[in-house]
Amino acid sequence: MATSFIDKARITVRAGNGGNGVVAFHREKYVANGGPDGGDGGHGGSIVLKVDDNMSTLMDFRYKRKYTAEHGQDGQGARKSGRNGQDLVIRVPRGTLVRDAETGEIIKDMSDSEPYVLCKGGRGGWGNQHFATPTRQVPRFAKAGLPGESHDVFLELKLLADVGLIGFPNVGKSTLLSVVSKAQPKIANYHFTTLYPNLGVVWVEEGVSFVMADIPGIIEGASEGAGLGHDFLRHIDRCRLLVHVVDVSGSEGRDPVADFDAINEELLQYSPELATRPQIVCANKMDIMEDPENLERLRQHVEAKGYTLFELSAAAHQGTRQLVQKVAERLSTLPPVTVYEPEYVPRPVAVDSSAPLDIERADDGTWLVEGPWLQRLMGNINFADYESRMYFDKCLRDSGLFQQLEDMGIADGDIVSMYDFEFEYQR
Ligand code: GDP
Ligand code: MG
Repeated sequence: MATSFIDKARITVRAGNGGNGVVAFHREKYVANGGPDGGDGGHGGSIVLKVDDNMSTLMDFRYKRKYTAEHGQDGQGARKSGRNGQDLVIRVPRGTLVRDAETGEIIKDMSDSEPYVLCKGGRGGWGNQHFATPTRQVPRFAKAGLPGESHDVFLELKLLADVGLIGFPNVGKSTLLSVVSKAQPKIANYHFTTLYPNLGVVWVEEGVSFVMADIPGIIEGASEGAGLGHDFLRHIDRCRLLVHVVDVSGSEGRDPVADFDAINEELLQYSPELATRPQIVCANKMDIMEDPENLERLRQHVEAKGYTLFELSAAAHQGTRQLVQKVAERLSTLPPVTVYEPEYVPRPVAVDSSAPLDIERADDGTWLVEGPWLQRLMGNINFADYESRMYFDKCLRDSGLFQQLEDMGIADGDIVSMYDFEFEYQR
């Protein structure tokens, strides 16, 4: 059976480039030599991720895989700055993990509602208006904008719910969710009806509620990849409590004790840690139970393992309110839902610094340095960060730039200007 639930995707995102600064001079009738008034380039738009609670799958990302934010516009004369590129906001379902596509490391767990800047737009280049100094009155140069950051990322949805429903297909999980919350999962008397995870908010009392998730049925062999289910177990990874629904009616000729063990075995195969997650076991379909013996055997089996057994008839709304109370009580004693810490450490961009840079001497003695790899490198350097600056310095040193400047006769105290960065040369 094909499933159309998409909970993994790989996308490429690229922030906008900064616009270029321009060289311009003030022109006015009867004014002979106007000053430099070239405006700055606008900043490139960033790639911003934001949680959208109306989304429950990563389906959209199957059809669109490349996302690019707007570039900043170039500056103009009369000190006019170019317009900033617009940020591109990408909406994702709550609980989406963003991973580096190469290493798989977590960059960000999109669990809260704060927007997250995944790629920063390139800074705009400065127009020549900034480069006038007492000794440099006619700056005939401006700076190019810097490229925006880009990243290949892997998105993986891991639902965010307090409670996960587990159990064989057809035992009444979706029915239970529909009765205790406003969620409307598909309910039908055949196996594997649930193809999409469903989330429902369960109201307990003023100020108290929790989120319950109904995931596609776990079946035997699921942890080995048989049928549906295996991949979906990931969606209960974060749940604080599992509600394990068992059909005790005997109407399908199932043995509740064997069912209970089989599901727990699946959990264990998938993750030993998940198998120890607190569980409340529900004996469901009490209204049509044929043999009370089933219930008693299950009770003894379950209680011997330290779990509580709860009698229920989801369809007849019997015991559901009490179950909700019990779940809420239990949750109040458990730690909050797991939020994954970022693992990814941005690596400095690798640049091939062997290509020669353009070095030019401005009228006022400033050394102007430009080149494609330098531009790329600077787009990724955060000058507010010490380590980042040290790395930048090392790259310049390794490239032989300083030696080259020495050979050309640079002196201590000369100004070196590269894109939106100027510094005083010191040996
Ligand atoms: P799921 O596959 O575990 O999600 O099971 P569903 O919620 O889709 O229910 C499967 C079938 O069992 C449906 O026909 C439900 O109406 C029925 N069912 C669920 N709970 C009860 C119950 O407490 N009593 C009875 N008699 N039928 C139930
Ligand atoms: Mg179901």
